[in-house]
Formats: sequence, structure tokens, C-alpha cells
Amino acid sequence: MSSVLGWLVVAFVLSLISFIAYSSQIFIIWPWYHSTLSVDLIMLLLPFNILVGMLLWNYYLSVTIDPGRVPVNWKPDTHIDGYEVKKLTGKPRYCRMCERYKPPRAHHCRTCNRCVLRMDHHCPWINNCVGYHNHGHFIRFLFYVDLACSYHAAMISKRLYDSLQLHYADETSNLELIFIVLNYVACIPVLLLVGGFSLYHFYLLSGNCTTIEGWEKDKVATMIRKGKLQEVKFPYNLGVRRNIDTILGPNPLLWCWPTRVRGSGLKYEVSDGDDVEQSWPPQDPDKQQHEFSLPDTPWTYENGSINPNLQPSNSSERQHTMKRRRTKHPGVSSVPPYHPDYQATVDEDADSLVSSDDYSQPLLRRGSEGYEVHSIGREELLERYLRELGEDPGRYVRYIPQPDTDSESETDNIPLGQHAQAAPTMS
Ligand SMILES: [Zn+2]
Ligand SMILES: [Zn+2]
Repeated sequence: MSSVLGWLVVAFVLSLISFIAYSSQIFIIWPWYHSTLSVDLIMLLLPFNILVGMLLWNYYLSVTIDPGRVPVNWKPDTHIDGYEVKKLTGKPRYCRMCERYKPPRAHHCRTCNRCVLRMDHHCPWINNCVGYHNHGHFIRFLFYVDLACSYHAAMISKRLYDSLQLHYADETSNLELIFIVLNYVACIPVLLLVGGFSLYHFYLLSGNCTTIEGWEKDKVATMIRKGKLQEVKFPYNLGVRRNIDTILGPNPLLWCWPTRVRGSGLKYEVSDGDDVEQSWPPQDPDKQQHEFSLPDTPWTYENGSINPNLQPSNSSERQHTMKRRRTKHPGVSSVPPYHPDYQATVDEDADSLVSSDDYSQPLLRRGSEGYEVHSIGREELLERYLRELGEDPGRYVRYIPQPDTDSESETDNIPLGQHAQAAPTMS
């Protein structure tokens, strides 16, 4: 069934190509040239038809050529020519689905249900995998779609421009106008979508990289950014010119011409470099260290930790930690006074303004970027002190009488705090 669907998609693509290529010539360009053959008409349509011919030829090759399969009983030779296998992967790769060894850069395609040599991606539009033997044809197909669609859009736009001129307006039939609109509707989305897609593929081609390897590179870049890995060089990047050679052939004059790719697709040249000891793709160190093992009980999670939903929240956990610290060293804070978690825990007997709960509480404020510590000045301390005494700060000016030097009053020896309490308020 999926095979039938695949061929239906191919039929749809062929219909779309045929519609854009031929309806434009028959219903728009031919009437434009008064339905008579002329040198100008041939000069206009010949390049377009060459582009369409190249597009269809490369499409046919992309659809029909086998992308490359692993030969039966193929084994990587890790001693003589298995340099790449050993250097890059350390050990041969094996596909459990095909029950065969996997050459470097080969991947298992679930749609094709087999391993594909230097697999790029499975493309539903060609009902085939893009792999070692048809990658070049696929790239050329994209290239000719871009060229043919651009030529087509320019041609139709010229026709539309002429029809909008006054002396041509009367001659444009409704049928022509309908086909101009339909051709735009078919061509512009194809040009935009395939254009973007092909730009990405040309970029990958210049780096000798497949789509799958592009994803791997992205993953590696993320791991490097997170500090999990050192810089890793992509091993197959041989320089732009040689990268293109490996896929489109060694002769630049024939890059746009369908040519058979050389080699077997079972081994690849790697770039020179003394530091290519790292395997490709590099493994995530976290995944390497914590291999999955079944938990002992159904109530534990991964590394033996409990269900995260049952764990205390961050704030209550922090409170517990603080409590533990305090009970461990009563009266001594484990963090310095400037630390946000610092709590002044002093002897309860000691009479100090700062140790009282009223004064220590509002000094910290938790914000999205951490703690903000409020400074507290002498004036504020005094105001709070007065408020504690039940007085309205600022309403009265406190007058503290100086002891009379002549008389020997009892108040001489009273400490300042008690003195203030004992003293009457002066207005
Ligand atoms: Zn496989
Ligand atoms: Zn496939």
C-alpha cells in the first residue's frame, strides 16, 4: 500500500512539472507569439525546454537508481583498509534490523527497510532514499528545478507585463489570463520551497555532509556549547572543491551533467589531521556514563532517586538545609555575613538590636536574578526603635538630658537604652 502511495506521489510530481512546463508554453507563450513559429519564439523556448529536459532526466535517475545497499556478507576490514572504520568508530557498526555490518556513513532507512550507503534522507517526492549512488542526481534535480522555475516565472511575468500595456490588453484572452494565474500559483510555491531546500543542500554539499550528518553536527555543536565536549572536527570535510568532486564528479564542466559516482560507497576518505582520534558522531558523555538499568523497585526513578513529584520543592528543601546547618553548628552561621543565606544566629541572651526578628527579616528580597540585600541606615534603625517603644518617629524630638555634673543623680549609671525608656518625652 505504501508503495502505491509512493508512486502516486511521483505521478503527482510529474504532473506538476508537466503542467508548469507545457501549459505555459501552449496556452500562454504560443498565443503571445500569434501562434506562428519564429526565431524569437525558438530563442525563448529552447533554453527553457533544455532546462525542463535536464530536470526530468535527473528526476528519473533520482527515482530509479538504487541509492546503494550493503553487499551480502560484507565485513569491514579493520586491519588493512579499515583505517577509517577503526579511526572513526573504534569498532565496526552493526545493523540489528538487517543483521549486517554497516559501513561508515550508512544508515538504516525505516521506509525502505534496509541500510542505505551514505544515506542522506528518505525523500517521498522521489519515492526513494537519497544515498551514495543517486545523491549527485538529486542535487542536479534540485538545481534544474531552481533554474527552470526561475526562467518560467520570468517568462510569464514578461507576458503579463506586456498584456498590462494598453495596446496588448485587448488581445489577451480570458483563457490566457486564467493560465497565467494558474502558472503563478503552481510555480512560485515550488520555487520558494525547493529554492530554500536546495540552498541548504548546496551548503551541505560544500561541506561533504549529508542531511543526517548535518543533524549530528548540530547536536555536537549543542554539546560543545554546553561544555560537554571539546571541539570536534567533522572528519569527511576535505575542502570545498574536493567535497563537490566526491558527489558531482571530478570534472567541473560535467558537474551539471548526470555522471555515475565513482567508488563503492563502502569506505570514505577522511581529512588529514593529527587530532582525529574522536569518533564520529561523538557520543553524549552523559549518556555514556549513565547507561540505562532497570530500577530496583517500581517506585524509584533512574539513578535510584525518588519520584520527582514527591520531592520537596526548592524552597522547602533550602529551609531544611538551613535548619540542618543551624543544628550542626548552633549559634554559628555556615556562610559569611554578606552571603544571601546568612542568618544572624547569636546567643538569645545577648541584647542586640540586629538579632531581634523584627530587624533581621526584611533585609533580604528574592528576585528573578537572585537576592537583593537592603541596606539599613542609622536613621531607619532609630525609627524602628522608636516605633517599638510605641512612639511616632518624627513627631517628637527626643531630648535626652545630660547628667548634671554637679548633682550625683542615680540616672548617671543607667545604660542609654533604659535611660531613653525612663526619660519623659519632650515636646
Ligand atoms: Zn539496516
Ligand atoms: Zn528510504
